[in-house]
Amino acid sequence: MTITRTKPVVNFQRLKDNIIALSSIGKTEGSGLYRMAFTEADQEARQWLLKKLKEAGAEASLDGALNVVGRLNASSPSPSVVVGSHIDTVPNAGALDGALGVLIGLECLHTIHEHNIKLNYPLELVAFSDEEGRFGGMFGSRSFAGMMTPGYLEEATDLDGIRLKDVFDSLGHDPYKALDAARPQQHVKYDLEVHVEQGPVLDEEHLSVGIVTDITGLFKWQVTFIGSSNHAGTTPMHMRRDAFMGLADFAHEIPRIIDENGSEHSKMTIGKVQLLPGSPNTIPEQARFSLDVRDTSKDILLELQDASRKALSAIARRRKLKFEFEELSLIEPVACDQRLISILEDVTNELNISYRLMPSGAAHDAQMIASIAPVSMLFVPSKGGVSHSPHEWTDWQDIEAGATILLNTLLKLNEQP
Ligand SMILES: [Zn+2]
Repeated sequence: MTITRTKPVVNFQRLKDNIIALSSIGKTEGSGLYRMAFTEADQEARQWLLKKLKEAGAEASLDGALNVVGRLNASSPSPSVVVGSHIDTVPNAGALDGALGVLIGLECLHTIHEHNIKLNYPLELVAFSDEEGRFGGMFGSRSFAGMMTPGYLEEATDLDGIRLKDVFDSLGHDPYKALDAARPQQHVKYDLEVHVEQGPVLDEEHLSVGIVTDITGLFKWQVTFIGSSNHAGTTPMHMRRDAFMGLADFAHEIPRIIDENGSEHSKMTIGKVQLLPGSPNTIPEQARFSLDVRDTSKDILLELQDASRKALSAIARRRKLKFEFEELSLIEPVACDQRLISILEDVTNELNISYRLMPSGAAHDAQMIASIAPVSMLFVPSKGGVSHSPHEWTDWQDIEAGATILLNTLLKLNEQP
């Protein structure tokens, strides 16, 4: 005897319509869009999402950090399952990025509600505010995870020097309410974030989804080699203290540092360089550069810090330079929850969808939530590895696969005590 259980499926046309509708909010010149956190476009997207959540049968409101929160089965005393990402964007963004994760979550809520599925946990969809970093990055998820402080709310400014406090005041919202967005430990049973991969791996391997095992940590340094500037024509080669040569030596050391101290997930990038005084016929006195180093293991990140410091110091000695560095940021890596990973794998196998396990090389809201709850993430492919661009796209069938996996994972969690 075969027992067939008809499982609910997502309304894919509705999900497509919502992706197109949200991508029309914040359109800029050309084909891009820009919903910088707490601007008019971002606020319009918030209002749109609140309305959609209510249509989907959820209770919907803004919390103190201006996170959009939609809830199904809100009165249940159990810890909740949170599905969250973000709807703010970088300048000249595409339609997907965090918005896709939010809209897939919205579709799952709507499907569960309209099929009258009784949940044994509260299901929350959260669109975290300011993930992209107008005010330092992941403002909403940091607040949600209880990492916000009054000092930060008092001092935070954006790149134009506009204060967070003033922006919240102008929206008629008390900035200190962001402290109220904090959820206690044990309040969230799981946090699951769907996101575009923002890299080329899934697309190249023709896989529909990636199940994330670790979210990379990173440190960012501002490094300066200091030598002395002098005439490019009259200073003999052996009498120079050329700061740029220090930078060039260090750049060449990067593969060795990763070989000796890193892992297959290590990445080191010098992305911004400035030579001073910056004249073609003068030996550079200073070479200032950014160093962005990422890995999924905290120990390896520490080793990479150590190895970088040693390399900088050896080069400085050899080239008769001085060097200094400043740590601009340090985010710890996060291991995703093993139980959540196996549930995602089971569901994906049952649905016969192609996938791989993979680390996330980018930082995400889930990384912040990991301090209060077990997390994992589901990636869908970024075509050509393109992200943060109007050309960012994911095939519809992979978007449907991601939505189907999320829905079935939420249903599987409902079978658990
Ligand atoms: Zn994102």
